[in-house]
Amino acid sequence: MNQRFLVKTTTKVLLLIACLSAFLDVLKIHRGIIFVYSVLLVLFIFFFIKKINLKAFILLSGCNLILFTGFKIINGIEIKNLIFFIVTYLFLLMLFYLIYLRRSSFSKEKFKKEKGFITKLMVLKAAKTKINRKVDNVDRGIEDILNIYDLNKEFEKIQKLEDALKVFSQFFKDRYDTDRYFFIFKKEDESDVSFEKVSNGFNLEHSKISSINLKNLKELEQLFYSDKTVFCKDFRKSKKYHQLYVYFPAAEFVSIPIISEDLGVGLYILFSNPTKPFPRTLRKERDTLAQLINGILRKTLLYVKMERLSEIDGLTKIYSRGYFNKILEELISVDQKEQKCFSLSIFDIDFFKSCNDNYGHQFGDYVLRKLSDLVTRSLTDKEIFARYGGEEFIIIFLGLTKKYAGKILEDIRKTIEDYEFNADRNFVKLTVSFGLSQFPEDGADSKTILKNADQALYTAKNTGRNRVVVFDRDARDEMDKKTKKNTRQGLERDL
Ligand code: GH3
Ligand code: MG
Ligand code: MG
Repeated sequence: MNQRFLVKTTTKVLLLIACLSAFLDVLKIHRGIIFVYSVLLVLFIFFFIKKINLKAFILLSGCNLILFTGFKIINGIEIKNLIFFIVTYLFLLMLFYLIYLRRSSFSKEKFKKEKGFITKLMVLKAAKTKINRKVDNVDRGIEDILNIYDLNKEFEKIQKLEDALKVFSQFFKDRYDTDRYFFIFKKEDESDVSFEKVSNGFNLEHSKISSINLKNLKELEQLFYSDKTVFCKDFRKSKKYHQLYVYFPAAEFVSIPIISEDLGVGLYILFSNPTKPFPRTLRKERDTLAQLINGILRKTLLYVKMERLSEIDGLTKIYSRGYFNKILEELISVDQKEQKCFSLSIFDIDFFKSCNDNYGHQFGDYVLRKLSDLVTRSLTDKEIFARYGGEEFIIIFLGLTKKYAGKILEDIRKTIEDYEFNADRNFVKLTVSFGLSQFPEDGADSKTILKNADQALYTAKNTGRNRVVVFDRDARDEMDKKTKKNTRQGLERDL
């Protein structure tokens, strides 16, 4: 039975009783009977309607009292009797209410318990609200992640930094209507640290920033070494970044530091258009975005580092054979119209085995390092110098015919011949033999040009060593005709 129904029914019953008592009163039946009715009524309220609550109780008793009083006034009652009636009625109400309180569930302990329960309930309610809020945030986070999931998918296969930056640009253009960015990263070689920059949407060529050193621009340095994503809202008016604004005019920017093993290795800054702030979605997504960019750029920077490491020979610190092969292929595979001539030399240390045997392997290593150093000093940045393997080296002379390259090699040969290698009280003189060929005359593909340079070296070795031998196709063809044999000796011409 619900309380509403209970209250309604009780009210009806009470009204009926009140009417009956009034009727009896009208019939001038003794007042004592009316009083007994009242008592019965109160008893009824307390004991028959157990579930009644305080509100309903007051309502019912109040109604009853008003009705009784009303009827009594209508029927003409003496004031003192009326007061006696009301006081008795209220007294009885109080009495029964107290009995009711003791007996019923409204005991003090229970009340305390209930109070504790209510407090707990309120705490739980607050917790629920908090949880709901968090769930909302998580929902929003999931939404963000889903939004940039597309970007992540695109990155799964990307290893190269340039490709990653390109995909970022396209994504930001589509999503935030801007592809203006500045990316700076650390390039660490053996001893020195330098920074490399890539940017889009800014003309930095002639500005100071083109040769930027982080120390020159404190604001950039701070952002670089910060471990937090920074969102600058009112960039133009910002006092903190006013120097940066000179180079990168934008309404807003988000700077994302790239952190690897707790160290700052790079910084990616996305700039909005000069007059138009980012759309609101960026603010919502920026943390997820920062995590994503950080992860991807960290991966590509590692790839850059690995690539650099594989490009450099560990012992001599000149280019490795792998890098040389890559460069040679690139030089040859460019459009025929753009192809430029270059010369290629392979050289080898004479009797290096006995040097190792006589003075030890460590001394041999020192010779390889020192010789690489001597050759590097004799070359310009137009030459690519690599260790081809063991004690064999290779040089590409960009834009030089073998005539001119031969002259440079001759100088190198003399330098090495004159040099006294000394370490651990060992003083050794060494010589080197060179073979030289030219692209495209002596070979239009990497295999042929290398083979012909090697052939020239072979001749140098077989004709006394310590020489530069230039490959000569005519001499070889002539000889081929004569001997109908492809012998390697005597096919080349001395420089
Ligand atoms: P040739 O004049 O005919 O070139 O004689 P060679 O003794 O130089 O030629 P060979 O190919 O017989 O010997 C090459 C030697 O170079 C053998 C090898 O021990 C040595 N070598 C190759 N790589 C290294 C290296 O990294 N360190 C040292 N110390 N020696 C090396
Ligand atoms: Mg050799
Ligand atoms: Mg040798």
